[in-house]
Amino acid sequence: NTTLVEEDKEIYDLIQKEKWRQYSCLELIASENFTSQAVMEANGSALTNKYSEGLPGARYYGGNEWVDEIENLCRARALAAFHLSPEKWGVNVQPYSGSTANFSALTALLSPHERIMGLDLPSGGHLTHGYATAKKKVSSSAIYFESLPYQVDMKTGILDYDKLEQSAALYRPKLIICGASAYAREWDYARLRKIADQHGAYLMADIAHISGLVAAQEAADPFAHCDVVTTTTHKTLRGPRAGLIFFQRAPKGEKNSDLEDKVNFAVFPSNQGGPHNNTIAGIAVALKQAASPEFKIYAKQVKLNAVALAEALKAKGYKIVTDGTDNHLVLWDLRPNALTGSKMEKICDYVNITVNKNAVHGDSSALVPGGVRLGAPALTSRGLKEQDFVKIADFLDQAAQLAITIQKSTGKLIKDFVVALDNSDEVKALRKNVE
Ligand code: PLP
Repeated sequence: NTTLVEEDKEIYDLIQKEKWRQYSCLELIASENFTSQAVMEANGSALTNKYSEGLPGARYYGGNEWVDEIENLCRARALAAFHLSPEKWGVNVQPYSGSTANFSALTALLSPHERIMGLDLPSGGHLTHGYATAKKKVSSSAIYFESLPYQVDMKTGILDYDKLEQSAALYRPKLIICGASAYAREWDYARLRKIADQHGAYLMADIAHISGLVAAQEAADPFAHCDVVTTTTHKTLRGPRAGLIFFQRAPKGEKNSDLEDKVNFAVFPSNQGGPHNNTIAGIAVALKQAASPEFKIYAKQVKLNAVALAEALKAKGYKIVTDGTDNHLVLWDLRPNALTGSKMEKICDYVNITVNKNAVHGDSSALVPGGVRLGAPALTSRGLKEQDFVKIADFLDQAAQLAITIQKSTGKLIKDFVVALDNSDEVKALRKNVE
């Protein structure tokens, strides 16, 4: 029963360093958040010791009396947090992550090589929505299913529903996936439902990024139109790292009536083994929090902060994809500043601001992303408000201008850029300022 610091000082020290990094940096990665102490306690509990393949009441192992209660509570809280009636919706809370949730949903709904359409990765979609390049099928969702991605409008950056409708008429998909990793605008689920219905296709929303906003009713409701909704639990929802799959129940005999068995079978035994019960307990805690009035205030503030950041950057002359945001993220197009996303990410690391490089629609190469993605969820959890995000825009502006100046003397290569960052007094001064 020795503690971590006594047992393994090396790992303990590294964890402390990471904790300090999270605390001392401005965390702007749109897919990250700070989960609560309560969630972390559940996540680090004795539940990690237990095997419980199967579902509550039907396990392949003994000793699951309390684990069954926890999973049932988690399922009930998931439905409650998203305002769903147990007669109309069910949920599987066992997926280890968003990616396994998505692949399980695909294997539940489709036979191998059936056709899917999801938002293209360079348009803001996720790998697991059928990503393939001209040369290679990258994601297993494109390897085991036939994928034809749809895109945003190359001028506006906004989803081109007309073009999607035309492509779907030719491709006749069995499944349309909506949802994204880097799309700042609201989704028209009703329009997508209409397009799916023209081909008898399923409609699935992956709300990984926005699920906290959906739970707080600060984003459009995908459940009103979709057959299946998947999400991660660790982004705006602020839980531990995992995934959920919601499936619509329907009166017997209708298309969806067997989704429950299909989804549950796809998660276990098709794609996973024993559920991570510690994580499921952590999800349950996070879902209880997400159903609270405080969480609604949080979700509203996330959106206000993202808008404040986008507007402040625009006021400084920068280009924001789609000219703004409806949700928690801001996609910043750095191509007009002749700066790559990689260099911006790098200089931000040097000055204690954490962002990620991101493809921007129309990028000539996916290997050289033209932008960075910024998100408000994590720093909103730390209590920051609009005026703080205006200050952050100031820091980002200083970092971008420094990067442009340094690049002039170092040329295109990132390794020369990094050497110059190491030697720059201005970079050191900005880092101090951010701290
Ligand atoms: N779906 C979307 C829209 C995502 O943005 C992500 C991750 O960023 C995932 C799925 C995958 O989640 P995970 O990293 O938990 O597998």
